[in-house]
Amino acid sequence: MNSDSWFLYALRCADDTLYTGVTTDVLRRLREHNTGRGARYTSGRMPVTLIGAWRFSDRSAAQRAEARFRRLPRRAKLHRIAQELPVAGSPFHRGSAIAQKLHPIRFCHRCGGLLDWVNSSGDERPRQICTLCGRIQYRNAKPCAGALVEEHGRLLLVRRAIEPYLGCWDIPGGFLEVDEHPEAGAIREVREETGLEIEPIELFGIYVDRYGCHDDGDYCLNIYYSARPVGGRAQPADEAADLAWFSPDRLPTAIAFHHARQVLADWAHGPRRGQPGEESKG
Ligand SMILES: [Zn+2]
Repeated sequence: MNSDSWFLYALRCADDTLYTGVTTDVLRRLREHNTGRGARYTSGRMPVTLIGAWRFSDRSAAQRAEARFRRLPRRAKLHRIAQELPVAGSPFHRGSAIAQKLHPIRFCHRCGGLLDWVNSSGDERPRQICTLCGRIQYRNAKPCAGALVEEHGRLLLVRRAIEPYLGCWDIPGGFLEVDEHPEAGAIREVREETGLEIEPIELFGIYVDRYGCHDDGDYCLNIYYSARPVGGRAQPADEAADLAWFSPDRLPTAIAFHHARQVLADWAHGPRRGQPGEESKG
């Protein structure tokens, strides 16, 4: 975002009155207003909610727009925000211009409104709710699919050519496309990484993990199928540096992703495969 941008922003205060200001950093100002350091007016009317913003090329343009906006009756102000109309020539910003410089989970995926935390009775977890459209921002583990491709009792693993876990052995698989069935995703990922065509046999198990190696990544829902190769030619490609077949007693030690150790242990110890809550040492 251009750091020369100035914003006219509008807040709704806790007593339902409106407040406007100009700034280069709307979210910093919002934080200040909501910690009592923004303005004397808002410090007695917390919490405030960001309800509108318009971007200008310089401070004086934003200030002129503010002066013009302030002269409007309250109903006209709210109408302008509700209809997302321009002010002094600048189109309404649905938060997207502001959101670009912020962590995305601070904003509603649908309307760009700022998210706030709520604790509802009857809900065991606090939720984030959009301060503009009221939609609850549920967080879910991202679905991934992979395959335990087995031939002659050995398992196909790929050595990662990319971070995270560069150089570690991994089960072929990856993130699903938005409308993709996990079985189709597993077939696609194996084809992309290994060149092999596979036939899924059955669901092997589902494992929740975090992406990356620092325990701060997104949660992933990892869905694995048992599969056998039915065509193609094994050749590392895409995100794989190498391929190899491993017998249960010769599995590598450098394994990518925490849950994959459990998957491999479950595979190696056959009968306990995919049992939730089962502890097994790999
Ligand atoms: Zn929203």
